Amino acid sequence: MKQFDVIVIGGGHAGVEAAAASVRVGARTALVTLNAASVGVMSCNPAIGGLGKGHLVREIDALDGLMGRAADMAGIQFRLLNRSKGPAVQGPRTQTDRALYRGAVQGFLAKLEGLRIIEGEVADLVVTGGQVSGVRLADGTQLFSQTVVLTAGTFLNGTIHIGHERHSGGRIGERPSNLLGARIADLGLKSGRLKTGTPPRLDGRTIDWTRLEMQPGDVDPVMLSFLSKGPAVRQLECGITHTNEETHDIVRRNLAQSAMYGGKIEGVGPRYCPSIEDKIVRFSEKSSHQVFLEPEGLSDETVYPNGISSSLPRDIQDAFVRSITGLERVRIVQPAYAIEYDYFDPRGLLPTMEVRDVPGLYLAGQINGTTGYEEAAAQGLVAGLNAALHVQGKEAALFERSDSYIGVMIDDLVSRGVTEPYRMFTSRAEYRLSLRADNADQRLTLRGADWGVVRHERLKSFQDKAALLESVVRLLRTKLFTSKDLAAAGIHVRDDGKRRTGFDVLGTHALAEADQNRLVPELAQVDRGIREQVGRDALYEPYLHRQQHEIEAARRHEGITIPEEFDYALIRGLSDELRSKLMVRRPTTLAQATRIEGMTPAAIALILVNVRKAGLRATASQNG
Ligand code: FAD
Repeated sequence: MKQFDVIVIGGGHAGVEAAAASVRVGARTALVTLNAASVGVMSCNPAIGGLGKGHLVREIDALDGLMGRAADMAGIQFRLLNRSKGPAVQGPRTQTDRALYRGAVQGFLAKLEGLRIIEGEVADLVVTGGQVSGVRLADGTQLFSQTVVLTAGTFLNGTIHIGHERHSGGRIGERPSNLLGARIADLGLKSGRLKTGTPPRLDGRTIDWTRLEMQPGDVDPVMLSFLSKGPAVRQLECGITHTNEETHDIVRRNLAQSAMYGGKIEGVGPRYCPSIEDKIVRFSEKSSHQVFLEPEGLSDETVYPNGISSSLPRDIQDAFVRSITGLERVRIVQPAYAIEYDYFDPRGLLPTMEVRDVPGLYLAGQINGTTGYEEAAAQGLVAGLNAALHVQGKEAALFERSDSYIGVMIDDLVSRGVTEPYRMFTSRAEYRLSLRADNADQRLTLRGADWGVVRHERLKSFQDKAALLESVVRLLRTKLFTSKDLAAAGIHVRDDGKRRTGFDVLGTHALAEADQNRLVPELAQVDRGIREQVGRDALYEPYLHRQQHEIEAARRHEGITIPEEFDYALIRGLSDELRSKLMVRRPTTLAQATRIEGMTPAAIALILVNVRKAGLRATASQNG
């Protein structure tokens, strides 16, 4: 069969979610990829989730995507990042066994009826009357479809750099995709070059682990998928070591030989995943940087040294790595390298991820200027879902900044574009308090079911949970306590004559389980996960109104003008990155400032306060 509804090009994180979402919606789907064995490969770090990224994984999971479940099946160390902070900014993360992760993803795809995986290189897109109608493979085979989702990652005109060595490649050991790169450029999409880097891989048997601090996972691991109950495999520890003055000297002396610094790479790199060269130049005052030694798997001796990506020559990599405690005799099994690749300006996309000027063509993942597995997977899901809905003549699935991090990312991409690889942060979301990783299913699963992208099993599991949550909240709202009742239970509140509901009390007091049971004995029968979720919902409820109010106020303030001579250097608490962008762009209104790439709601609030203060000072000096 050569006729499909949706053809997905690429079997990376974007491609697999796109293909799986399209099949769940019921579309006949083909996934064409250069190498079927590398479907689901993690090109860089062996970890899924983290701050902001964990939110995306939970949202993908709430829409019944694969990433969370695969990560839980392959997870060898689970950690909830920002555990000491509020749930809104906590990020679930797991170290993963690379082979298990890839196996889990391939296993999920193998079970999807209606998906055909085709190994081959897509060399051309077939466009008929301005509308995509299929793809042509390098061997001449033509496949037909009404929509195509392109997720070629770092492969389009990819160039790998290791010091002065330079060769074409999509990632190490894999060829690039040059034919397609040229073809897409012909379609008139605005493109640019970006770069990213990866650290050397080490032979764990040559590391002196006895000299390292070891970091175990959490004792109460938090899973990435709402469907998982606990880790599936043995858990491992990571090692922690540090660079030192000698490491920095070696890197500094050889900067001219670094592909990134020797002027051989024109693309812009990820500010948030700096290479060791970047760190030593940008943070020259620091004499040491932390390096996490992360095992790549249970039966794999390879270790990923998180924090030292580089594009220095191989011998210099050997020297600087061996200057680090515990790594004195280490053997590098794969050198660090940088890769430069084509990306397309995402401002040419609709919020469905469809290219504005080429109907039927959807783009997702790294080719839209993002970096990271999670960002790619989330876009893939949206693109695959919308491509399938489009074929079925159904309404598009749209995400808003107010309903999901997915919505935040898509809006950032399609309305602001990128000048450097885009990654997710919680600070990008103005609705942070309601967009929590813990409530992603409450926000999205029913909507996903309406779009047809959530399977019955997931929907049923969510409906059971939602019914329990609702019954507990209802119960708590019917329990009324005076301040005296509460004092008797050891909870002290203002004696204002008010009667407080059990739900209010839970939201304002961090009560131990035993105290909760004393107050509302029925709670003793309730599952711990449900109780904890009700507690989080109760905690945030009072703030949600305030959040809404602040957002409305921010919208009203968008028209406020910023004086030309306004001095951004005076704003305390503004990041250097945003300060320098503001100084260059000099927005004349707050609305313009909002559209600067990387702008955060918190930064807008700071600018507003300072512009007002400056206005008051100016008035005062005129009057005085
Ligand atoms: P990929 O995972 O790259 O998948 C692309 C897929 O497209 C592959 O399956 C490929 O076979 C297929 N393909 C390409 N062209 C064709 C064609 N013509 N025909 C058929 N199939 C095709 N992320 C971070 O968050 N932090 C980092 O520090 C980081 N460092 C990285 C370093 C390196 C060297 C690399 C390569 C990536 C790094 N990443 C990093 C990025 C991360 O790997 C990507 O963001 C993520 O894998 C992107 O997913 P994707 O699905 O868009 O593309």
